Order: sequence, then C-alpha cells, then structure tokens
Amino acid sequence: MCLAKAIIEWRQYLHTTPEIGFEETVTADFIAHKLESFGIDVHRHIGKTGMVGILKRGTSDRSIALRADFDAIPVQEQNTFGYASQRAGMMHGCGHDGHVAMLLGAAYQLSQDTNFDGTVYFVFQPAEEQGTGAKAMIEDGLFTRWKMDAIYAMHNLPGLEVGSFLISPDSVMASENHFSIEIHAAGGHAAMPHLGSDPVLVACNVVSTLQGIITRNLDAIHEPAVLSVTDIKTNGGANVIPTVVTLSGDTRCFTDETQAYIKQAMERVVAGVTAAAGLDYRFTFENCVLSTINNPDKSDVAVRVAKKIVGAAKVNDKCKPFCISEDFSFMQREIPSSYILVGNGATGEKGGVPLHLPHYDFNDDLLMIGVDFWVALVHDQLAR
Ligand SMILES: [Zn+2]
Ligand SMILES: [Zn+2]
Repeated sequence: MCLAKAIIEWRQYLHTTPEIGFEETVTADFIAHKLESFGIDVHRHIGKTGMVGILKRGTSDRSIALRADFDAIPVQEQNTFGYASQRAGMMHGCGHDGHVAMLLGAAYQLSQDTNFDGTVYFVFQPAEEQGTGAKAMIEDGLFTRWKMDAIYAMHNLPGLEVGSFLISPDSVMASENHFSIEIHAAGGHAAMPHLGSDPVLVACNVVSTLQGIITRNLDAIHEPAVLSVTDIKTNGGANVIPTVVTLSGDTRCFTDETQAYIKQAMERVVAGVTAAAGLDYRFTFENCVLSTINNPDKSDVAVRVAKKIVGAAKVNDKCKPFCISEDFSFMQREIPSSYILVGNGATGEKGGVPLHLPHYDFNDDLLMIGVDFWVALVHDQLAR
C-alpha cells in the first residue's frame, strides 16, 4: 500500500460522510475496520461511538496515547469539489476528517514497525464539538481500564503555513462556561410601574455590573477573561412590565481558579443588584469545557519531535493562548498531556479558510506531516 496515496483517499471519503457527535456510526465503523485490518486490537463503545486501538511491542510497560476527534459540525458545506459532504446540513468543517486520517496513517506505519518498545493507544474521540465526547470516554474508563503515561492531541489551524507547529508550554485555550440569570418581579402596567416591580431595569444594571468583574476584579495581564451576556428574554409586552427577565451568556478564561472566581463574583453581583431592588433571582453557571492547559514536559517532547520533522524554523514553542475551547481539556486533568496546533495553510492559500466556515477544507498536504510527527513521537517516547 502507498500510504501517502491511501491516506488522501481515506480523508476525502470521510469528508463525504460527516456525522454529528455521538451519531458517528459510519465513521466509527470505518476507523475500526481500518485498525483491525492493520492487526491492531480495537475496543469499541468507549464513550458511545468512541474507541481505543492498542498496539504493543516488546516488554516495556511504558505507554503513550495519541488522540484524534472524529465528529463533524452542523453546517451546510459550500465547497463543490467531488468529495464534498453528501449529507445535508453537515460537514467536516473543523478538519476532524484529517485528524482521523493522520492517526490512522500513523497506526498503519507503526503496525509495520517493530522499532519501539511499549504500548501505543490510538484514542478516537467522538463529539468534540459539543464538548461531551472526552468526558464520555473518561466515564467509560479510558484512564482506568488502561494505563497511559501521557496523551497527545493535534488540531489543524488555518491561517498558519501548512506544517508549521504551534506548541504552548502551558495555556492553550479557554474554558467555556454558560450562565443563566432569572430576575423575578411583580411586573405591572407600563404606565404605573410604582404599583408593581420592574425586572427590566434591574436586569440592565446586572448586565453592566457584571462587566466590572472582568475589568475591575481580575488582573488584566495574568487573568484574561471574557464575559458576554448574549441573550435577554422577558415575558413582557410594549405596555406590560414583565414578571421575569432571563439573561444568558457565556464566559471564558484560562485557569480553573479564575473560572471559580468568576462564578462566585457573578452570583455576588446578581444577588447584590437584585437585593437592592427587592427582587428575587435564580442563577445557574455550567462549566461546559475546562481550559486547555499543557504539561510543560510533554510540550517539550512535542517541540523536540516537531523540530525533527519540519525543522526548528517552523516550530513556535511559545504560542499565545486562544479564546476558543476544546474538550481535550478533560483528558488533560487526568494524565500529563500536550495539545498541539499545526498549520493547515496560510490565509489566502490552500487550507487557509478558517475553521467552521462553509468553504473550509482540511489540507491534504498536511496528512503525511501529521503521520510523520505521530510516528516520530512514538519512537521518541518508546525508544528501544
Ligand atoms: Zn470545531
Ligand atoms: Zn476541531
């Protein structure tokens, strides 16, 4: 088999059959059959559609886990090439088709290779986009059924030259937290507010006071955070003061400590502002995804290996964090890890369309670079 050719076929086939989180049955079957055909032991239904492939060599008890996500996004593809999505309203708009192809390519290469000593775990994760796949795999025993010394994940990044690496020693991406604030009042007639009570004015005060948490209570350099109230609903009308206003939104930050502080400060603001007006509230704060934080030692390993593959000039080992989120963060709280970003193509060039846009496509020129990186990482960590 010519891997460089086969891997493009796999990637483009996967691109035609995108599936949304936890419904990736065709994709999961495809991955499992490929791994089995390489002679790799496959354990399915780890996190619903997720799976783990295991390849053991020699006698060492050292191990390494390599993770690829494989779900698609609910976007109507606007590309018109031959392998465009064949499913209405779904596309591989985040390049997880490419992540799968790269990890399958590495699995094939390593299945033909006896020059390492230890166990490689190929972790294929569903439902990254809704932020629930990693958790589901952990709940199904990903780290208790198997002893993995470390786990690495790689994501493509448009806007960066193809094959250039961005590897942070620590903070990579933000946590994502959704909140909801209900403010309850007596309501009333718009012309006679003094006879009832008004949650709208209080809600407006809550919205503006919440911004003070970010700008007045957090260190602007060391505790960057965003708080966005994105939705306001009431049960009022033009001449009816509502009895309830619901504010909802999203807040992001980069450490578990800042996240806990924001949650507590938000409730303090909501309680204080509503109490001042004599109203009641209900506050909920849900952490959807934790912040993505690399282990510096594992990032050092990834940097060393990336330099070997693409040269030192194409490896940035001090990348600044991004305010987007990634559920690999849940795996990062379990064992040492590094989340690696790799260029999909510079802006305006092949692979340069941003993630999640309807014209995005994974760059096939990146496939063998990814395979070579994964294989070299295994050789580095499980050297004979
Ligand atoms: Zn995505
Ligand atoms: Zn993604």
